[in-house]
Amino acid sequence: MSLAFAFDSIPSVAITGRDARFPVHRIYCVGRNYEEHKKEFGITDRDPPFFFAKPADAILADGKDIPYPPRTTSLHHEVELVVAIGSRGREIPLERALRHVYGYAIGNDLTRRDLQLAAREKGRPWEMGKSFDASACISDITPAESAGDVKRARIWLKVGGQVRQDAHTADMIWAVPEVIAELSTFVELREGDLIYTGTPAGVGAVTRGDRIECGIDGLGQLVNSVV
Ligand code: MN
Repeated sequence: MSLAFAFDSIPSVAITGRDARFPVHRIYCVGRNYEEHKKEFGITDRDPPFFFAKPADAILADGKDIPYPPRTTSLHHEVELVVAIGSRGREIPLERALRHVYGYAIGNDLTRRDLQLAAREKGRPWEMGKSFDASACISDITPAESAGDVKRARIWLKVGGQVRQDAHTADMIWAVPEVIAELSTFVELREGDLIYTGTPAGVGAVTRGDRIECGIDGLGQLVNSVV
């Protein structure tokens, strides 16, 4: 088979302690997975969290600059625990869900908040608020066996040294196994899939020149500057 043109490369993420890189197949994200974050947007319903997606090539590695994206004046940070899937499955039972995890990373689900909210008000898809170039910052992936207890980890984000988000992954409405089980009822999960599991309260805008530092206990740090 010949292809009309070649891509530069398959999007991939470095893996801590390993030479091989993690090839990215798809990026899924969970919306409204922390109660306190729902409240800051005036959401008081009891509806469960939900899913949306970003393109695989939206990933941006630790240390890379974030080019301030077009068509927005409200670029928001959202620190999140990222689950890297290592084996495929559909309708994965809760008790087997963690067997499909390759590792974990720190993510920043960058959001053009003005576009997202305008779409929400009109009942339109969020896509252009969420799925844009360099919108999925991600740290190196820590293999699951060396990641520590990510279920009960502190998750935080600083802008210019000031704490903006500071919470615990234990406060997620859907814990990691539930996210995997639920998502696998909609699509077959495959090796190479990344799942951003939702952000805690404290989201806010960043501007050019801002340095964004994110951390989750046991997973190191993720640092990117907006240019
Ligand atoms: Mn998010």
